[in-house]
Amino acid sequence: MTHFLSNCPRCGYIAEAWSEDGVSVRVRCKMCGYEGRLPHPDLKNGAWRVG
Ligand SMILES: [Zn+2]
Repeated sequence: MTHFLSNCPRCGYIAEAWSEDGVSVRVRCKMCGYEGRLPHPDLKNGAWRVG
């Protein structure tokens, strides 16, 4: 499991993020409590697959 830091999409603060499958990342922000899934930053250029 890859652990790294990402900007929170809600408040912009540095949030904890980790990848479970290399395709999406889970983000958890200590500042605002945001928790959710985002596309993996390495796949921003159109490689995102749905389904
Ligand atoms: Zn936040």
